[in-house]
Amino acid sequence: IIYDVTDIAVNKLQLKAANEQLERLSQTDGLTQLHNRRHWQQCLEHEFDLYARYSGMASLVMIDIDHFKNINDTYGHVAGDKVIQHIAHILSHSLRETDCVGRYGGEEFAVVMPNTCGADALNFTERLRERIADSTIVYEGLKIKVTVSLGVCEIGKHITSSSGWISCSDKALYEAKQKGRNCSILHTAQTSA
Ligand code: GH3
Ligand code: MG
Ligand code: MG
Repeated sequence: IIYDVTDIAVNKLQLKAANEQLERLSQTDGLTQLHNRRHWQQCLEHEFDLYARYSGMASLVMIDIDHFKNINDTYGHVAGDKVIQHIAHILSHSLRETDCVGRYGGEEFAVVMPNTCGADALNFTERLRERIADSTIVYEGLKIKVTVSLGVCEIGKHITSSSGWISCSDKALYEAKQKGRNCSILHTAQTSA
């Protein structure tokens, strides 16, 4: 007896492709196509675990669009969405393959940078910040300008959990906002005080 297994093989391939697509969708933010918060958090935890086990080097960057509420209020939420997509596009084209970028919340992004010290991460954030400030979003014939503030934290002994790492980057981001926005701040012991 000869069985034709072509249909079974084709079905298996289709199922595999469908499962892969589902997995991609479950990890991706719909608006920006960046990693969603849940998937990004897994990258962060993985990097933190590597540090806890092998004491490697890594930095975390938190990014927040400045006065974003004004953009929504002035140009509308659709324009606001375009601005978020624009920043996401610049971000994803500014990173190395090993960096892990995600949409952390509404107008906030986060990047895990493996094998990167704080000074190098700050170098990256300053180039990114300038690139964003120099760019223009055109929406229905209107030219929109935006800036971002960035907080950077290099992993170290004072970081005892992945959430502690986020808190320290957040403190640096908060300081960048306090300093007048459109700047990057590297977390230091003074930032924590
Ligand atoms: P700051 O410089 O201090 O960060 O000021 P801000 O106005 O950016 O900060 P705030 O947190 O007050 O505003 C964030 C706004 O982002 C409020 C919320 O309505 C808007 N937002 C959050 N998610 C989205 C989204 O997906 N699309 C759009 N268009 N707006 C969003
Ligand atoms: Mg915010
Ligand atoms: Mg903001």
